[in-house]
Amino acid sequence: MPAAALPGRATASSNPGGIALSGWGNYPKVSTKLLAPRTLAGARDHLLGRSGVVARGAGRAYGDAAIGTHTTISTRGLNRMRSFDAATAQLTVEAGVTIADILAAFGPRGFFLKVVPGTKFVTVGGAIAADVHGKNHHRDGGFGTIVESFRLALPSGEIVTCSRAENAALFMATLGGMGLTGMILEATLRLLPIETAWLRQDTRVAGNLEAAIDLLEGSASATYSVAWIDCLARGAALGRSLVYLAEHATRRDKELLGPELAPFPSPRMSRLSVPELFPGWLLNRASMRAFNELYFRRGAAQQGRPRLVHWDPYFFPLDAIADWNRIYGRRGFVQYQCVIPQARARRVLADILDRVSRRGDASFLAVLKQLGDGDGPMSFPLRGYTLTMDFPVSDPLFGFLDELDALVVDAGGRLYLAKDARQSRATFESGYPRLAALRDIRQQTGADTRLVSHLSARLGI
Ligand SMILES: Cc1cc2nc3c(=O)[nH]c(=O)nc-3n(C[C@H](O)[C@H](O)[C@H](O)COP(=O)(O)OP(=O)(O)OC[C@H]3O[C@@H](n4cnc5c(N)ncnc54)[C@H](O)[C@@H]3O)c2cc1C
Repeated sequence: MPAAALPGRATASSNPGGIALSGWGNYPKVSTKLLAPRTLAGARDHLLGRSGVVARGAGRAYGDAAIGTHTTISTRGLNRMRSFDAATAQLTVEAGVTIADILAAFGPRGFFLKVVPGTKFVTVGGAIAADVHGKNHHRDGGFGTIVESFRLALPSGEIVTCSRAENAALFMATLGGMGLTGMILEATLRLLPIETAWLRQDTRVAGNLEAAIDLLEGSASATYSVAWIDCLARGAALGRSLVYLAEHATRRDKELLGPELAPFPSPRMSRLSVPELFPGWLLNRASMRAFNELYFRRGAAQQGRPRLVHWDPYFFPLDAIADWNRIYGRRGFVQYQCVIPQARARRVLADILDRVSRRGDASFLAVLKQLGDGDGPMSFPLRGYTLTMDFPVSDPLFGFLDELDALVVDAGGRLYLAKDARQSRATFESGYPRLAALRDIRQQTGADTRLVSHLSARLGI
């Protein structure tokens, strides 16, 4: 596969044989050699004997996690589905198969994935390595909970099978281990049977952050829940939100709400796209305010009227616009995602949102979700609330984010490595008290000196 066909804005770099590569945030852009094997044996061979190497999936991590300090091995050519057992709903795929591939093939046959992140354009390898969470983490846990087993190539070239029963410590450290334990070659996942492709969505309006958290807490029985916060609202309206609750619709729901709808319609085909030269200045306070106002009016009009929404726009609304990351201009953007433990969440999140709304340059909308306990020692979730916001890169931004970090650290929270491009080692180490488990495994397998991403070098993992 030619490097130019890979996601993440690959461009020529001054390093001989290298290219400048970034994550989804287009920040930072760093030099690396990019290899793109097409077979599992080829992937393992590329790992053998190399240092400063890490695997890369679809490049949807925002920062520098999927970029090796010397070499990056793309798994996009490892895109074969191996086997499916309808009786157990177990599917074995190569690591570069994406969630979009799985849903396209198995959605119409009545299967879904119990845990999906906010984009379907991630690989299975990347979803395991970040132990991604969905809108149901507080109820159902992270991606690791649907992984039966995977085969992992170690830097020595050895290939080991890992599950909760076999090589369990390696299995757990790989969940959220950000590619630093080995390269996942293939994985067996358990799919979720569904009766229709529809979600029964209930929209609620929350006038401020307190009301949003009350709504999320009071809806603990809902399978999926998420609040979209207007980052520009201030004062008494600080944290005003639309809260979306949803359940997989059954055939009975379909009859109640829309008997004319097909249970498994074809997914939408058309995708809008943002041009490469989209001028960053179009994203200003006035345009964001206008967008947010429209968004809220439209959402509020849906309150009290449950409706059926296809899984694609419900789970992956941003996927409808290809390359939306370009709207932040050439300097790119940083996605800030923290989690605050339950007991401190209301006060600390209000403080963070207040500072963000005063600054006025955060994204249109922030996302607030409930999380349950994390699974692996490096899994991001902890029981509490996670807040996610985008910020265009600017010189003063980094000092401001350091201020937010101090609030997060003080509250016993942490930042998500899949989104990170800039946190300090001190912030990272205070947030991940079980880091020693990953470091031990890395030492035992020799990964500590061989598997090194820009993220792991920056954070001293
Ligand atoms: C629009 C958008 C919405 C998102 N929403 C969510 C969300 O709701 N919840 C959430 O948890 N995350 C979310 N994310 C983050 C995303 O799910 C994670 O960053 C995920 O890891 C990306 O997968 P990828 O295939 O693109 O991996 P990459 O970005 O390429 O890599 C991510 C990490 O996985 C490692 N990796 C990749 N493949 C392998 C492999 N085969 N073996 C070992 N390690 C590997 C890399 O080394 C790197 O550390 C979102 C991202 C975007 C762009």
